[in-house]
Amino acid sequence: MTQEKLTELLQDMSLEEKIYQLVQLPGGYYVDDAENSGTVLDRAVPERELYLMGSTLNIYGAEKVNVIQKKALEKQPHHIPMLFMMDVIHGYRTIFPIPLAQGAMFDPEMVKEGAKIAAAEAAVSGIHVAFSPMLDLVRDARWGRVMESPGEDPYLNSLVGRAIVEGFQGEAEEGYKDHVAACIKHFAGYGASTAGRDYTAAELSEHSLREYYLTAYQEAVRAGSEMVMTSFNTIDGKPSSGNAHLLREILRDEWGFKGTVISDWNAVREMTIDGFAADEKEAAEKAIVSGVDIEMSSLTYADHLARLVKEGKVSEKLIDEAVLRILELKNKLGLFENPYKDADEDLEEERLLTKESREAARKAVQKSLVLLKNETSDDKNGEKILPIRPGERVAMIGPYAVTGELESHWAPTGRQEDCVSVREAAEELSDDYDLRFAEGAVLLRRNDYLALRSERSIEDLRRGVSPEDPEEAILQEEYSERMITEAVRAAKKAAKAVLFLGEHYTMSGEANSRGRITLPENQMALLRAVAEVQDNIAVVVFAGRPLDLREVVKYAKAVVYAWLPGVMGGPGIMDTLTGKANEFGRLSMSMPYSVAQLPLCYNELRTGRPKGMDDPGIFTTCWFDTPNRPLYPFGYGLSYTDFEYGEVKLAAGEGAGNCCPEDRTTVLAKASCRVKNSGDVSGAAIPQLYVGDVSSSLVRPMKELKGFKRITLAPGEEAEVTFELTPDMLSFYGAENVKVLEPGLFRIYIGADSETENMAELLIC
Ligand code: BGC
Repeated sequence: MTQEKLTELLQDMSLEEKIYQLVQLPGGYYVDDAENSGTVLDRAVPERELYLMGSTLNIYGAEKVNVIQKKALEKQPHHIPMLFMMDVIHGYRTIFPIPLAQGAMFDPEMVKEGAKIAAAEAAVSGIHVAFSPMLDLVRDARWGRVMESPGEDPYLNSLVGRAIVEGFQGEAEEGYKDHVAACIKHFAGYGASTAGRDYTAAELSEHSLREYYLTAYQEAVRAGSEMVMTSFNTIDGKPSSGNAHLLREILRDEWGFKGTVISDWNAVREMTIDGFAADEKEAAEKAIVSGVDIEMSSLTYADHLARLVKEGKVSEKLIDEAVLRILELKNKLGLFENPYKDADEDLEEERLLTKESREAARKAVQKSLVLLKNETSDDKNGEKILPIRPGERVAMIGPYAVTGELESHWAPTGRQEDCVSVREAAEELSDDYDLRFAEGAVLLRRNDYLALRSERSIEDLRRGVSPEDPEEAILQEEYSERMITEAVRAAKKAAKAVLFLGEHYTMSGEANSRGRITLPENQMALLRAVAEVQDNIAVVVFAGRPLDLREVVKYAKAVVYAWLPGVMGGPGIMDTLTGKANEFGRLSMSMPYSVAQLPLCYNELRTGRPKGMDDPGIFTTCWFDTPNRPLYPFGYGLSYTDFEYGEVKLAAGEGAGNCCPEDRTTVLAKASCRVKNSGDVSGAAIPQLYVGDVSSSLVRPMKELKGFKRITLAPGEEAEVTFELTPDMLSFYGAENVKVLEPGLFRIYIGADSETENMAELLIC
């Protein structure tokens, strides 16, 4: 439809029709079995209202979607099609590793491939908009939603965000055929929720907001994301759905975003609970004036906007602008020509979970695993614990050795039966492998904690009964002892034991913050018991967040972090444990020593009294009873081979002297370094470029990631990696909150992780 026709359509619509384009209710109002990811309204909604609405969420499957679309076309006075939206967070049916694990791949191309597969699957199932990428910068592992984010670094998150938007959307010119529109969330600063507790306020200065927290969202806007979702948190006392500074001044005026803004679930109505609006009418007014186009899962717009227009508190022009944006999105998706777009029942089965998409997911698993530790075993002359080798007897112990629960809280369209467990994948190995399985411990779920916790009164707690007792209660069960005994027997007879331990997926994700970030106590008891009879232990950790692994590394000579790996978790892990793949990723979130270090990030601001990394010193920033150093830093990760880094060499670029801070193309200098595979197997090196500004008008971090590469090197092979330094990479938000590039001395580091000291100095005049 031409723009002219769209405007004509808008002019022909009644105020009521227009308002309902701005309203979205969850699928549960239309079908019985839709997912709910938040509270549900108690008000009944007559069918007439439902089919006036511009969109819905969480209904999927071509058949269902097409029935509702057909009805909407019949009932909507202008036959305007509905938009169908869905949380497609790490895959639609082919569930990939969680986004935090995708950050750890340090491989935007792989992220993009996964997003493209997810888009094709979602599109054929009737979805038009995917609520992703989630680009909240995360520094606190207590927060359950860290699993949804690529990690703690603005630059890495930006690349992942761009990759997801590009992978999802494909080409606008082609009506996003076989693709879906992306929706950046949660705008803004949700990842800074106080103390890692979900939905709390974010305390962020305008400087921190712009310098760190907004970077990735902005890059995803640049990449062309069609939609942005507001966040639940407040900043400076303002909920995001009522924050015109964020939604209008920054997003639209400064960044030029032309797409649609949607609130998070019930977030407009929750402004009354925040105490930011006296009633729902005021909430509606604040949201529309601040820039929320679509209200998700509450009805303040439906119930109050017409009156607000009549009273002159909200101009109809504002409503028209919001509606036009929604009509434009429908038009871009080609819905006026074909309201069913790619939804196709016949194609659906064929297109979902194909052999190719499963292979891509398997590759992604290999690339997202992080090898944290790999020491030599006691009895093999100099051989590392991993990989496991044919012929040796290995006890494969732990709940994650056998379970297929490898998806996440955010895989509503995934199916557990699609997941291939470690045990199932092991069955595919040749008979030369001698693997013996024992479950060893029950996998506790979030609800086990809640059930037992709810039995504890505050009096119990005051008497000293621990609220963490669920774990102890499980331990006291007879079967628990039996499981451990069986596992210990297997470990004793084996050359080594690999333990597959972790938190259940219901323990991370939305509303799943933890105060302790250790492995469940019953699994730790299993590990301790195995360690009594077996010295050669490797642990594979499954989790939606970085965990406190202090005690794990005490017993384990090798540790692999496997996150929540998705449908091909088992095969990707077995490929790697057997050494067929050596593609390991690197940490995209620092692994804390303990919960005391949170929030934690490698790029914190410098202080006049810096911490000694190993020696706390006196009058320095430190805890005297807890190490300063994270257990494993950002960017860290080993391989089955070793890499050597040569000196950092700098060369002037063609554009030296150009100092426009936003410039991303002029090359001020080139930094290069030789990387050599000095081991005896092929493997993936991930050289990382960090920049530090020696002195500037505002205090800055010691180092910030500005580039990385993923290169595969054969044994003995050497390669030179070169990074081009552009003005944008050396600039920052100055005191006026605009980007500045200040001439002076910079430190340019290239190394294996964020603790590298391999550096050369660069003078920018
Ligand atoms: C979450 C969003 C999600 C929405 C729709 C909310 O509770 O915060 O991330 O997109 O629900 O399911």
